Formats: sequence, structure tokens, C-alpha cells
Amino acid sequence: MKTLNEIRSSFLSYFDKNGHRVVPSSPLVPRNDPTLMFTAAGMVQFKNLFTGVETRDYTRAATAQKCVRAGGKHNDLDNVGYTARHHTFFEMLGNFSFGDYFKSEAIPLAWDLLTKVFGIDEKRLLVTVYHTDDEAVEIWKRHAGLSDDRIIRIATDDNFWSAGPTGPCGPCTEIFYDHGDHIWGGPPGSPEEDGDRFVEIWNLVFMQYEQFEDGTRRDLPNQSIDTGMGIERVAALLQGTNDNYATDLMRSLIEASAEASSTDPDGPGKTHHRVIADHLRSTSFLIADGVMPSNDGRGYVLRRIMRRAMRHAHLLGVQDPLMHRLVPALVHQMGAAYPELGQAQSLISETLLNEETRFKQTLDRGLRLLEDEVGGLADGADLPGQAAFKLYDTYGFPLDLTQDALREQGRGVDIEGFDAAMAEQKAKARAAWAGSGEAADATVWFDVAEKHGPTEFLGYETETAEGQI
Ligand code: ATP
Ligand code: MG
Ligand code: MG
Ligand code: MG
Repeated sequence: MKTLNEIRSSFLSYFDKNGHRVVPSSPLVPRNDPTLMFTAAGMVQFKNLFTGVETRDYTRAATAQKCVRAGGKHNDLDNVGYTARHHTFFEMLGNFSFGDYFKSEAIPLAWDLLTKVFGIDEKRLLVTVYHTDDEAVEIWKRHAGLSDDRIIRIATDDNFWSAGPTGPCGPCTEIFYDHGDHIWGGPPGSPEEDGDRFVEIWNLVFMQYEQFEDGTRRDLPNQSIDTGMGIERVAALLQGTNDNYATDLMRSLIEASAEASSTDPDGPGKTHHRVIADHLRSTSFLIADGVMPSNDGRGYVLRRIMRRAMRHAHLLGVQDPLMHRLVPALVHQMGAAYPELGQAQSLISETLLNEETRFKQTLDRGLRLLEDEVGGLADGADLPGQAAFKLYDTYGFPLDLTQDALREQGRGVDIEGFDAAMAEQKAKARAAWAGSGEAADATVWFDVAEKHGPTEFLGYETETAEGQI
């Protein structure tokens, strides 16, 4: 069995041997790019190399990149606990060519790593290609000997990558693993799809064209390669499971959570442990990269993740703050590969403890209120917006936490009602303030307040074309 740490090393050394520069992961908060919420893919730190704005002393690179998909365009927060393959924090393994090799080398490099180095059974692999990409089909046949029925042509954007309406773009080919009859059944509320036996492992993007405003395309002078493979997914299949959370690293965090809460890791609290293990990683890595909990922007995403984790700890019956006690287990697992984690260990623990202590009181009371409200509802009826707003406003429940709490019962929140309650409260506050005779200043203050919080800051959701990775 290969551990996750061994897989990372063997990926990087394979590409090193094949002439790639091994480059460290960039931070989760992208440098010089306010349009992006978090680094969500390996290519982010290389953006300017693809467009030719910047050159370096290498044209081939390989990374294990820290990624968070919990806000902005990429958001897998709602998948955690419900699918076997999504995390809010994960590591993306990638190899890159900046105007160096192209398809005919990228496909064999990927195939040989999977089948020869990792020893994956070829018969279990299948690929998708963009429907017009005959060249990729040919290479798959020639190099991997794949038959037509294992090369699936897809016409959607899933197999065509672009950074936005203009700029570099191109087809991609994705490698899937067939887990056969190992079907993971999620808890109630999980998407149908996740009984799926085919799991996407690796995305190879062929940056081939430049797209212009008038809709025309030309071939890029420097065709490039950008690939991304989730390490937890490849670890799962190498460890004989189709569940990312059963892999060595995630399992050790789940066991730490079970031990700290004196509960069974595989008992009725199983889903809570999975969410806690996932959220422990994203919150710790975000704090290590300088994000602190707050009421807007990145800090509010962090706060939302922390509070969701705390609700799950509460459901395990834990009375005292839990998350901060799990930090050593994470540092033990990942501190060697990511030294920033060890360096920030006390900051991480203190931040988690503070946030947990502050939220604890209102969490208990809010959950009781939620229970009472739900008790009075008809089967499957949505929670009235007014109640969700009270939870938000008085008890500090982010809306998505309330939604997460209701999902397992097949309920949602009346969002329109929630928005109306929010608007009403703002109007009232405005009127009260105006009545105090300081209207001129108040207007300015409210403009600022509306822009920056306490409501969720949505600026990053409306990303510019450039920011869409
Ligand atoms: P999916 O369709 O499963 O959500 P994706 O198509 O969104 O994956 P890509 O954007 O193609 O993923 O990212 C490249 C690779 O990164 C994926 O093939 C997968 O192995 C991995 N990956 C993507 N999102 C996650 C996640 N939330 N957790 C773990 N691994 C992920
Ligand atoms: Mg996805
Ligand atoms: Mg996909
Ligand atoms: Mg994909």
C-alpha cells in the first residue's frame, strides 16, 4: 500500500526524472490576484507563463498544489459529507508544459505514471476527450491501446477549458477509474450520482487556442499543458477503496476526531467525523496562509467552514471545544510536506479555540431554536426565512450552516423570505439611525456597512473573466 505522502513523492520524482522542475505549492491566497478567492488549481501560480507575459528558466514544471474549493467559482463545501470524492481542501498534483511538449507527450507521461509506476490495472481506466479532438483519440489508441468504447467523446465544457470568454483555451481529456461494484452510499441528501462507479482522477488540459472577442480562435504560438490530479482520489484507488475518507491520511484525522470525542469513527457519527476531518484541513491551511475569521470575504468563508465543523462536533455530543485538539494530528500527517503548518501551529490552535469558545453558547441556543421551529413544520416544508434570519442575526448561524442542518431532513430554507428579513432589518436600522439626527453621517456609515458586512461579501462571486480558472 502506498501512503499519501509516498504518492506525492513518487509523482514529483517521476516528473523530475522526466525533465520537470519541481516547484513548491503556492499559497492558498493567490498573490496579486484579488479576483480569485482561493487557489483552486495547480495552474494558478503559472498563469502568466501560459500567456507568455512571464518566462522563467524552465519550461516544464510539476507541483503538489494546496487547493481550496469553498468559495468563488469553485465551491465543493456542500459536497463534503455527501460524496466520497470531494474535499474543501485537497492537493492537486500537476505537471505543466509552457510551450514545451504537447499532447503526444502529455498523454503517454500520464498513462505511464498510472499504469507502470503506480501499477494501476489498465482495464479499469477509461478516458473522455473533447468531441472534436481526433488527435487526442489517436494518441490514446496508439499509446495506451484503448478501444473505442473506452474513449468517450464529450461535447460540453467539461472537456473544454477556458479562463474566460477570451484568452488561452483548449480541449481536455480526463482519466476516470472504474471502481466496479464498490459503491459508496452517502447519507440521506446525497446526490444520486454518487452511487457512481466511475471516478474522475486526472484532467489534462491542452492549451491550444487563443480566443478573441469576436468569437474567432487562432492556434497559440506556444501550445501548453496544464494537468491536475486529486491526490486523495488516486490514493483511494491505490489503497483499494473508492472512498477518499478511507485513505491513510484522512482516516488518521477521522480517528483523531473519534478519539477526542470518545465516539466510534464508524458509528452513527460517521458523517460528522468526515466533515470534521475535512474542515480541519481547510481551516488550518487557510490560517497558516494568513486568512483569519471575519465577517466578509475570505475570512467569512473561513468562519463558515469553522462553524459548520463546530455544529458537527456538537452533534457528536462533544461539550468542550474540539477542533483545536485535532491540530497536532494534522501537523503530524502533513507538517513535513508543508512546513508552514508546523510554523503556524499555535496560531491555528488558538484561532480555532477562540472561535469555538465564542460560538459555543449561541450554537447551543440556536440549534434549540431551530429544532423548535422545525417541530412546527409540515413534512418536507422549508424553514421560514424569518427563522433562518434570526439564526443568522442573533445566533451567528451562517445561512449555509442552517441549510446544512436541514438538508439531512430533506428541507431547505425559504431564501426569498430570508433576503426580505435582511432587507427589512437594514431599512429599520437606517430609519432608526436617521431619527437620531445624524442622518448625513449615517448614510455614509450604512453604505460602508452594506458593502463590507456583516452580510456575506459576494464580490468574489462576480469574478472577472480573467479570474475564472
Ligand atoms: P469533479 O467533477 O469530481 O467535481 P472537477 O472536474 O471539478 O472534479 P477539475 O477542476 O478537473 O475537477 O480538477 C482536477 C482534478 O482535481 C480532478 O480530476 C480531481 O481529481 C481533483 N479534484 C477536483 N475537485 C476536488 C475536490 N473538491 N476534492 C478532491 N479532489 C478534487
Ligand atoms: Mg468539481
Ligand atoms: Mg469533473
Ligand atoms: Mg474535471
